[in-house]
Amino acid sequence: MAKSIQEIDSFAEKLPDDTRASVHHASKLKTEKRFATLASDFEEPDTLRKTAARVKQHTLEHLDEYLLQAEASLQRNGATVHWASDSEEANATVLRIMQQRGAKKMVKSKSMVSEETELVAYLEKNDIEAVETDLGEFVVQIDGDHPSHIVTPIIHKNRKQVARSFEREGLGAYTESPEELTAMARRHLRAKYLAADVGLTGANFVTADTGRITLVTNEGNARFSMAATKTLIVMVGIEKLVPRQSDLPLFLSLLGRSATGQALTVYTQFIGGPKLSGLPEGPEEMHVIFLDNGRSEVLASDCREILRCIRCGACMNICPVYRQASGHAYRFVYPGPVGAVLSPLINPQGFPQLADLPKASSLCGACQEVCPVDIPIPDLLVRLRRRGKLEKAEKASINTPGFGVWASGATSPGMWRAGLKMGHAMNYLPRVLLDVNPAAHAWQEHRDLPPFDGGSFRSWLKEKDKEAGK
Ligand code: SF4
Repeated sequence: MAKSIQEIDSFAEKLPDDTRASVHHASKLKTEKRFATLASDFEEPDTLRKTAARVKQHTLEHLDEYLLQAEASLQRNGATVHWASDSEEANATVLRIMQQRGAKKMVKSKSMVSEETELVAYLEKNDIEAVETDLGEFVVQIDGDHPSHIVTPIIHKNRKQVARSFEREGLGAYTESPEELTAMARRHLRAKYLAADVGLTGANFVTADTGRITLVTNEGNARFSMAATKTLIVMVGIEKLVPRQSDLPLFLSLLGRSATGQALTVYTQFIGGPKLSGLPEGPEEMHVIFLDNGRSEVLASDCREILRCIRCGACMNICPVYRQASGHAYRFVYPGPVGAVLSPLINPQGFPQLADLPKASSLCGACQEVCPVDIPIPDLLVRLRRRGKLEKAEKASINTPGFGVWASGATSPGMWRAGLKMGHAMNYLPRVLLDVNPAAHAWQEHRDLPPFDGGSFRSWLKEKDKEAGK
């Protein structure tokens, strides 16, 4: 059995019962709400999904043009645009912006891309305090944990665990009341918002025609992150573009419903640029960092459809493997079916280390059925399995001594010619084998082994060349 499945299996086996129960309960609930909301609000939700898929696919196929258009629109709005080819470059850009302004404190809202680049750890190493302000991400940060879901980072925790963490960090006395726990986090984070120099957010969408950043949250923390800070940094993957502002109603209709079963998330913000002169609040400058980090290669591969993903989490909520194993079993930022495709492609460890993830699926197809952009996840998983198999076979053949000898003979013209001459000895070999090997004898009983006539094509070609006077 594949190594990865054993790994996920053993991870699931060791998963504490209360963690499994939290993951299973929350993901099941979200899936049910998703079905109910989409079915009650739209006559043909499937048509919406297919339309959204076409818009995103079109965007990907013209990504070079839309990125340039987005850059020009953002610059027109007064934002500064940066391009980062990998995590290191993106993190270094954030650090440089902060250091140039003498900034030491950052508040950040939820951003999977900054998880991907491990921004917080990078900034901490450089003496910058970066505080997560999304409630789930905040709990993950104080616990030294990692998110296990792209929409609900602490889906693997229950309120008792959160209460113990808050008590340990001195946020307040132990309580299991969600309202009191939220109030504690709010009090703690308010002080951080006011003290911060820089706010950092991700982006759910960037519209190429208007250069607007669209952000959806349920807690309003992204608004706070930019209300009191002078500098706003947006870190976003290059695939988050949509061509037009008028495409947003389609995507926003699908995103909230697919993610949490909400018709719309509580806060939806459209950020056009830094604050206009005369306005009382808002960041004075805005920087947008577009991150590639392997996405160009994904775009050039036969798995490019995965870049349509709008990070709703519906595929993991419905996935029977995710529900049993939880997000940490996937060993990278993106868990569940989307992660089983995306992680092996963009993880810095490279494909071989995570090539097992595509095998952790029954290919039941539920992930594609719920995906708001109709990504053919099962097909992509099969393609990656095939790729894993080919790479393994290639590696095995390179490492096999017999193939090594064959490769040196076949790639050296001198050795090849000598081999052809010596090949005539093959005509006698089967007779020798017949004498000593009964299996070879049986094989030849019904077959004629043609005599080896190596090199005749070369002599024939030489003759022809001579005749032609070459
Ligand atoms: S692959 Fe589809 S269902 Fe999964 S997170 Fe992305 S958009 Fe949502």
